Amino acid sequence: NPRIIFNEIPVGLPDTNTLVVDNSQSMDLESVPVQGGVLVKTLALSLDPYMRNRMRPVDVPGDMPALPLGETVTGFGVGVVLRSETPLIKVGDHVYGFMPYQQYIVVPSIGANSLAMQGLGLQVLENKYNVPWRYYVGILGMSGQTAYYGLKDITNPKPGETLFVSAASGAVGHFVVQLAKAQGLKVIASCGSDEKVKLVQGLGADHVFNYKTANTMEELKRHGPIDVYFDNVGGATLEAAIENAAQKARFVLCGMNLWLLSRYRVKMEGLIMTDWVDKYLDEFLEVVPRDLASGKLKYLEHVYHGMDKVGQAFVDLFTGGNVGKSVIVLEEE
Ligand code: NDP
Repeated sequence: NPRIIFNEIPVGLPDTNTLVVDNSQSMDLESVPVQGGVLVKTLALSLDPYMRNRMRPVDVPGDMPALPLGETVTGFGVGVVLRSETPLIKVGDHVYGFMPYQQYIVVPSIGANSLAMQGLGLQVLENKYNVPWRYYVGILGMSGQTAYYGLKDITNPKPGETLFVSAASGAVGHFVVQLAKAQGLKVIASCGSDEKVKLVQGLGADHVFNYKTANTMEELKRHGPIDVYFDNVGGATLEAAIENAAQKARFVLCGMNLWLLSRYRVKMEGLIMTDWVDKYLDEFLEVVPRDLASGKLKYLEHVYHGMDKVGQAFVDLFTGGNVGKSVIVLEEE
């Protein structure tokens, strides 16, 4: 019963020794007890960037449980049921779920109405449109759903707007390109090779560039501004996107580098203080001076006496030399 094991914790990027196949185990498909559940033959397994986050020592905390070294890798897969002892699933049903990466899997029953695999349920697939089963770990699984939900709910794009997507030839990105085109958006896309550029052009993107040979900032300046950015990579590309954002732009923070923002479902919205003056100034001038006077509110300020201190005061702002609000005081009264 071949399985994929987590063989070595990578230092930096994974290499071919990180995940290896182990053929040492066997399973008798006729006689193995399925404990009220099912025996599944695996058809397809997903490989995703998030898995790198799990490749760390088990005692190092992280967002997702660490993969135990030497153990079978777990992730999203699709399989077909070979034997069943539950009325919930028939022989021949196809199932999708979070599963151990091995050829044959026993999924025991954990109660009258549920089966469990690594704590997550198995979903019986309908496949009304008769697509290949492996699609359910890709465009119909986590990757496709990420593109679909991210675009739909977070950005709510309108026809005629401009969308930029990074890693545009990737699992999530190439679907974003197509969803956006179908919704009447102008699409700018970046990816990491000339071949990928051609592929993404073939998907209908309006302007595609290779970020390794082109200057992302220049490209976005020329083809932006950006109303919607679907970020799959973070870093310098995200910074360039921010520089080229249109007013009221919406950014989907999907990429790994920004995982903390994803974890807390953060939405970012630009703030211009003066937008809020009409609404809140009277209230502010009522509440804040009162609370300062009563001592309820503390004010930290860094006072520099005399105009000749301005040079140093300004430097301090960028070197952490100030504590609280920097102010040059010429006279007190
Ligand atoms: P991809 O299939 O796009 O594979 C990764 C691609 O990213 C590579 O092909 C490469 O393309 C590009 N890439 C790799 N390293 C870098 C780098 N250092 N800088 C810039 N680009 C890089 O992955 P997915 O489509 O599955 O995932 C895309 C992103 O979405 C990932 O960050 C993933 O973690 C995240 N994600 C988040 C989810 C969420 O719920 N928040 C759910 C699913 C995915 P190229 O050659 O073009 O550089």
